[in-house]
Amino acid sequence: RAHLDRIAAVDTDVHAFLHVNAAALETAAAVDAKRAAGEQLGELAGVPIAIKDVLCTLGMPSTAGSRILEGWVPPYDATVVARLRAADLVPLGKTNMDEFAMGSSTEHSAYGPTHNPWDLDRIPGGSGGGSAAAVAAFEAPIALGSDTGGSIRQPAAVTGSVGVKPTYGSVSRYGAIALASSLDQVGPVSRTVLDAALVHDVIGGWDPRDSTSLKDEWPSFAQAAREGARQESLAGLRIGVVKQLDAPGFQAGVSQRFHEALELLASAGAEIVEVSAPNFEYAVAAYYLILPAEASSNLAKFDSVRFGLRVNPAGGGTVEDVMAATREAGFGPEVKRRIILGTYALSAGYYDAYYGSAQKVRTLIQRDFSAAFAEADVLVSPSAPTTAFRLGEKLNDPLAMYLNDVTTIPANLAGIPGMGLPIGLAPEDGLPVGIQLMAPARADDRLYRLGATLE
Ligand code: GLN
Repeated sequence: RAHLDRIAAVDTDVHAFLHVNAAALETAAAVDAKRAAGEQLGELAGVPIAIKDVLCTLGMPSTAGSRILEGWVPPYDATVVARLRAADLVPLGKTNMDEFAMGSSTEHSAYGPTHNPWDLDRIPGGSGGGSAAAVAAFEAPIALGSDTGGSIRQPAAVTGSVGVKPTYGSVSRYGAIALASSLDQVGPVSRTVLDAALVHDVIGGWDPRDSTSLKDEWPSFAQAAREGARQESLAGLRIGVVKQLDAPGFQAGVSQRFHEALELLASAGAEIVEVSAPNFEYAVAAYYLILPAEASSNLAKFDSVRFGLRVNPAGGGTVEDVMAATREAGFGPEVKRRIILGTYALSAGYYDAYYGSAQKVRTLIQRDFSAAFAEADVLVSPSAPTTAFRLGEKLNDPLAMYLNDVTTIPANLAGIPGMGLPIGLAPEDGLPVGIQLMAPARADDRLYRLGATLE
């Protein structure tokens, strides 16, 4: 009830939610009843959670921030949502996002932007700005996001939250409306490292409904976080600073807080080493070919027949005319831009030059990571090059918007896990700054251990 009251009080200003779950109190009461009956409940039983609107929720609309899915109510839960319900968490509602998770500010949502609770004139990051803002504004204690190129970690950075992109394949994508299937991962947004770990423990693990799901046994991330919180010395831990992600072009206050965090880690006994990842220079360019290529294919299913909106052209027309009119009306400008880029990059005659080259760069970036992880146990960088920028500032400059992802994209291209956590406020604007920790694939527990120590 406290969270619903908070939503009622602040969400007209913040606009983190697209839909509030009318059944939340009823679900909470059912959990209370189970508890009263002496049932054994999980650690997060009864805890409310906000869910990014890219995740399918039975009985609750799921629009992915798009007009084309306005009012669509999925007939099933995403696996991660089903696991939340099975662990007795209480879905609070669906959070705002850039349309189909394309963007870094939530300004590409068809339903209007989310505002950063730290300063309502600023962006909350994207695409999962709604989930991060809900947590930062105390409208929800925890949330789910999805991260294809930074959409959990960058919003966490600019709202002073914790956000984790797990190892690719470790959390099910079943029922997560796909943006780029080889990059997408669902993960937690929270105020503490332990909270993120507790959510990760609930949603993670093999799912036969996702063909890329890993069959690994995962350790308890909550236990890793608890051990990390008690750990006083980092002796023996090698922390690699990626030279290319410690760029002089970053905002001064971001670099300053990042270097202070490095000093803190060194004073706890960690060995700080510089590592070089020369191909990171091409990561954003490769990503903005691979992502549109996969997205253009994934979004072909929005054909006016199977889901959501249907627009009949005046005077009638062929099936193709109906499809064209629906997609014209249902998709926003950023989505159309990426569909055009993607279909172009995949077309005969251009495929090798664009998509093929981008995939080769992706391999080089994976090799850069392998070399770096031979020298360091965990890699670090600022989570984002700037603090929260002003609403409207980058909206008409897609390239400037894309460049905000420079620090987060490499981890998606390599499939490795990344965590963003707050490290103070930038002196020049008083806004949150985040540090990103990255570990080799399958070593997500390292992030929780070190994150909890640093926190
Ligand atoms: N800013 C990235 C993009 O626009 C983020 C995508 C994501 O992680 N969903 O593609």
